[in-house]
Amino acid sequence: MPEPGKPPKSPAGDGLPPLREVIAALEIDAKKSLGQNFILDLNLTRRIARLAAPLDATTAVEIGPGPGGLTRGLLMEGARRVIAVERDQRCAPALAQIGEAYPGRLAVHLGDALDVQWPALLPPDAGRTVIIANLPYNVATRLLIGWLETDPWPPWWERMVLMFQKEVAERIVAQPGTKAYGRLAVISQWRTTPRIALTLGPEAFTPPPKVASAVVSFLPRAQPMPECSVKWLGRVTAAAFGQRRKMLRQSLKTLVSDPLPLLEAAGVAPELRAEQLDVATFARLAHVAEHLGSSR
Ligand code: SAM
Repeated sequence: MPEPGKPPKSPAGDGLPPLREVIAALEIDAKKSLGQNFILDLNLTRRIARLAAPLDATTAVEIGPGPGGLTRGLLMEGARRVIAVERDQRCAPALAQIGEAYPGRLAVHLGDALDVQWPALLPPDAGRTVIIANLPYNVATRLLIGWLETDPWPPWWERMVLMFQKEVAERIVAQPGTKAYGRLAVISQWRTTPRIALTLGPEAFTPPPKVASAVVSFLPRAQPMPECSVKWLGRVTAAAFGQRRKMLRQSLKTLVSDPLPLLEAAGVAPELRAEQLDVATFARLAHVAEHLGSSR
């Protein structure tokens, strides 16, 4: 932190000290248990923030702001408001300083993002809302699935811009017939149109992680087609991909004692394997399974 009364160095132009100084002054040594790999380059965080544009009438919900690199990027790019949820108390002074530089535009909640009741966090006048984060890798997919399983649909967020390990990003956008295609692809693509917007090497982070990362942008589908319940889609994909090398007539036995009537009613060949079904077919199977289940 700069000394009081002394103008801070401000290479990025927001009047706040460089992030490297901030983490040194607050002694925020990165904790692996919190998935802390910080982005200290504000040009890069501004670029990520712009993926959620237009920001001027937008409330950005940010998970894990850390010392505030992406938070500053969002505010510099004109986000009307940022609501940030951070578990690491050591980051509080840095975030408070950002809040002072942008009066009324940053609200910080110190706590675990896994415990948050999301819509309740939003003010009544939130307007267009986006979720944006360089996610802690250890809770990233759990958080993502929570946002994808939101009820009612369309959800409370209008776009998500999320950084994952590249391997996870590839599983989200994977197509049928590939090794990466699985439950994450089905739920992601049933409810949204995910696309990889940016790929970053380890050198973009401090400390550098072992693997590459990628930012995925998710736009919610107005109405997933075909319609089915999230719960049953989860059950069907868990059974099918739980034994992904087996034919569906075998793997779906963990869901129903005899899968053949279900497969026939859904128009799916019993010899197929999970990774051969597209997302729409999974949704159809889930719809039929729910119907058969409730009529028994
Ligand atoms: N946004 C910062 C950046 O891009 O430099 C930090 C990103 S770092 C990958 C992940 C952040 O999430 C860390 O600041 C970490 O403390 C925070 N975090 C980890 N687990 C969390 C949780 N369960 N709830 C809220 N924040 C969490």
